[in-house]
Amino acid sequence: MTDETELPARDSMEYDVVIVGAGPAGLSAAIRLKQINAEISVVVVEKGSTVGAHILSGAVVDPIGLDRLLPDWREDPERPLKTMVTEDHFLVLGPSGGVTLPNWPLPKLMNNHGNFIGSLGATVRWLGAQAEALGVEIYPGFAATEVLYDDKGAVVGVATGDMGVGRDGKPKPSFTRGMELRGKYVLIAEGARGSLAKQLIARFQLDANRDPQKFGIGIKELWQIDPAKFRSGKVQHSFGWPLGSAASGGSFLYHYDDRLVSVGFVVHLNYTNPTLSPFDEFQRFKTHPMIRDTFEGGKRLAYGARAISSGGWQSVPRLTFPGGALLGCSAGFVNFARIKGSHNAVLSGIQAAEAAAAALAEGRANDELSAYEDGWRDSDIGKDLKKIRNVKPLWSKLGLGIGVPLGGIDMWTNELMGVSLFGTLKHGKADSDTLQPLSAVKPILYPKPDGKISFDKSSSVFLSNTNHEEDQPVHLRLADPAIPIRDNLPTYGEPARLYCPAGVYEVVYDDEKGRTNPRFVINAQNCVHCKTCDVKDPAHNITWTPPEGGGGPNYPDM
Ligand SMILES: Cc1cc2nc3c(=O)[nH]c(=O)nc-3n(C[C@H](O)[C@H](O)[C@H](O)COP(=O)(O)OP(=O)(O)OC[C@H]3O[C@@H](n4cnc5c(N)ncnc54)[C@H](O)[C@@H]3O)c2cc1C
Ligand code: SF4
Repeated sequence: MTDETELPARDSMEYDVVIVGAGPAGLSAAIRLKQINAEISVVVVEKGSTVGAHILSGAVVDPIGLDRLLPDWREDPERPLKTMVTEDHFLVLGPSGGVTLPNWPLPKLMNNHGNFIGSLGATVRWLGAQAEALGVEIYPGFAATEVLYDDKGAVVGVATGDMGVGRDGKPKPSFTRGMELRGKYVLIAEGARGSLAKQLIARFQLDANRDPQKFGIGIKELWQIDPAKFRSGKVQHSFGWPLGSAASGGSFLYHYDDRLVSVGFVVHLNYTNPTLSPFDEFQRFKTHPMIRDTFEGGKRLAYGARAISSGGWQSVPRLTFPGGALLGCSAGFVNFARIKGSHNAVLSGIQAAEAAAAALAEGRANDELSAYEDGWRDSDIGKDLKKIRNVKPLWSKLGLGIGVPLGGIDMWTNELMGVSLFGTLKHGKADSDTLQPLSAVKPILYPKPDGKISFDKSSSVFLSNTNHEEDQPVHLRLADPAIPIRDNLPTYGEPARLYCPAGVYEVVYDDEKGRTNPRFVINAQNCVHCKTCDVKDPAHNITWTPPEGGGGPNYPDM
């Protein structure tokens, strides 16, 4: 590794507001700042090669945020969300059949009528164009790798990563120094488990007196299906099979646009059986007799995965620190019961921007945007998250059969009377601490993929168009390189092999029977930036860091 002091100084640019991440949260903040005052200078950095390249979502979008940000968006012929929800189904699946639940017992907040189905990737590309038209500078292909502080400890900007660094950490002939982007306020909108957000939460103890943040891994495919099976506007969710009692989660399946079906599976990362593979659970789900037919004769177009935050109300950290704030999923604003977070990402962008614009108008800089922190629990975001705060703890503690119906009753009492029978339940352990040793579990065996409806990881990762410069430092950092083989392998069978949806982690041996000289291999170039390893490693040993800007998946409208 080259010592930082041996490198040339970084060039620096000054802005009023620096935003990290061109997702719905970051772009909404940028747009709102310019709407309030066109003179405010705003820059957005995005690690994906283009805006939208790293975005993966369902997505059924509650339009509350877009309606507030851009009230005329429904009139724009270029708008990305054109399919309205027409049918809304909840299935409970068993191994060979299932039941469709009637809609009437479901709380109103679970109703999807009035929402739109589409690609969140396409939506952020459209939001990016709106932001640029207002004068926002957006730089895709640049990862923010470092937070800059002043001598009092306030955040004063971010630095983008150096480009052209070799695997050995030394500059290559193509070396280019990163840039310093300095701002009066820095808004962190990196999505779930942001790498800078994680550092800021730890440094400013933003999670003190909060429950641990909880996560799921969402694995998604995009299909174009047989016209005879396509039902524009159909939304379907399921619980139950293939997950056993050791894990909770469920599927989503949305029909939109030109015969497109977005299908995915979320496994909550508090699962206990280390032989569980979220990827294989998803592949198995598609083979269920009530699901399979949708995909027969169709074509799989794309694949990807992303962590989704699910701790909600109890787990949202303090949002502000001197010089900046956390937005969207970096703050954990997902309504887990509705599997929706994009509306709150937009709303949080608006609220943070309004607090920052007011501070700038008063001549302030690099202090706390307290109005944003003080306002969110009484805002629409808080109201959305508070009503469902007990659904996940009930499900995790009591399982599908008892926990989910109790969660439903709790949502009703919250909706009708604004009260919960349970107060506010706690989430319990962090997701990294829930695995049981191999000796305590029954190994889960998965069927081989058929190559038509179910697939293997390598053909799937191929469809994520993932690409990284190979000659660069491994961006998945192990605090102690010995732990995977010394501790994780004997105790848990090294679960990274299974929870990583991109086959990044392998244990290889000298002999075919897998007995001698096990070694832990990291195929970093396959990484789809889902952040699951950063959440789930039982030894807290893996840290996801941003690779060279522009690397990672190139999702086509996911
Ligand atoms: C499988 C799945 C299904 C979902 N379904 C739905 C749904 O149906 N409806 C719904 O409303 N929500 C859904 N969600 C949640 C929704 O996608 C999120 O709530 C939303 O995307 C959060 O927006 P965000 O702007 O906070 O973060 P993101 O959308 O994650 O955007 C963050 C951006 O920041 C960039 N970035 C991150 N770190 C850096 C860095 N250091 N430097 C530069 N750039 C960086 C990323 O590349 C990305 O472009 C789903 C999520 C998943 C995973
Ligand atoms: S290496 Fe980690 S972040 Fe990358 S795809 Fe695998 S689990 Fe996700």
